[in-house]
Amino acid sequence: MPLEETGWLRGGACRSSDPELFFPLAPSPAQEARAKEICAGCRVLQECRSYALRAGEAEGIWGGLTPQERRRSRFPAGWRTPAAS
Ligand code: SF4
Repeated sequence: MPLEETGWLRGGACRSSDPELFFPLAPSPAQEARAKEICAGCRVLQECRSYALRAGEAEGIWGGLTPQERRRSRFPAGWRTPAAS
């Protein structure tokens, strides 16, 4: 990942947090809630979320979103439905 793409990470609230909260080996609702709480107070949340969606980050919590939430955001329900003719 190029540095100019992720320079905003230096301002991330997660820098001083346990990486396991954001990239857990065994995800749990409590871990997810704690990570999202940290993201909610992060001053680079928008940059982080936008980067993760653009880059298609498949793992971890980025910008307050889980991998499943990012997938739903990128591919909303019905995105494969052909347009009516
Ligand atoms: S939004 Fe969350 S994952 Fe992104 S830099 Fe901030 S604290 Fe870290």
